[in-house]
Amino acid sequence: MSATWTVFVYGMVTALATALGAVPFAFVRTVSARVLSASNAVASGLMLGACFGLVAEGTAIGAWQTGLGGLAGVVFILATKRILDGHDLEFGEVRGAGARRMVLIVVVMTVHSIAEGVAIGASFAGGAVLATVITTAIAVHNVPEGLAISAVLRPQGASLGACAWWSFFSSLPQPIVAVPAFLFVDAFAPALPYGMGFAAVAMVFMVLVELLPEAYEEGNRANVGVLVSLSLIAMVAFQRLL
Ligand SMILES: [Zn+2]
Repeated sequence: MSATWTVFVYGMVTALATALGAVPFAFVRTVSARVLSASNAVASGLMLGACFGLVAEGTAIGAWQTGLGGLAGVVFILATKRILDGHDLEFGEVRGAGARRMVLIVVVMTVHSIAEGVAIGASFAGGAVLATVITTAIAVHNVPEGLAISAVLRPQGASLGACAWWSFFSSLPQPIVAVPAFLFVDAFAPALPYGMGFAAVAMVFMVLVELLPEAYEEGNRANVGVLVSLSLIAMVAFQRLL
């Protein structure tokens, strides 16, 4: 297998891992307001935890580049929200605010995995061992991200298959971007801290503006606080272990 194919296959494995995030929802039969609130809270904690990782890695390479990337992330998400707000969206059977939230999480998570695709491709330039470590880390970290996506889609009535598919879809930039990032590593590597700041800020914004308000609306505040805190800590600890 040529090196380029290896990079693509590794990227594809990380993308497939994201679909595993839908699995826990095979065991959630009824979706009540409490489940909707709890799901949004867990998704928020997981996304905030993932942001810590992105900001830590980004600032370790370049602090101001990460900050500039973050500014671009604010502009991006405001523009995306504006576009979505102006349309009567449909996502499967869902319309209105629920559909907007579904589209937004898929867009934000898909865009955020572009930075991770660059990380995979660039890591191959550092040798097979480094590449395997980074790819494994990203693949495993994708599972709770798939869970975060499924936690937003499933309570709105999306099927299990749809949750798995959109989770997988959100990570498709990883194999697609990893290949050019590997082939032209010198051109791509400097973009990493910008991309990480961008992704982190877009995710924080999504949590604050879309996910937490719904979690509060549908459930008990203290419960939301507990679930966000615990899933945030779990995600940060999990990334440390990798
Ligand atoms: Zn990620």
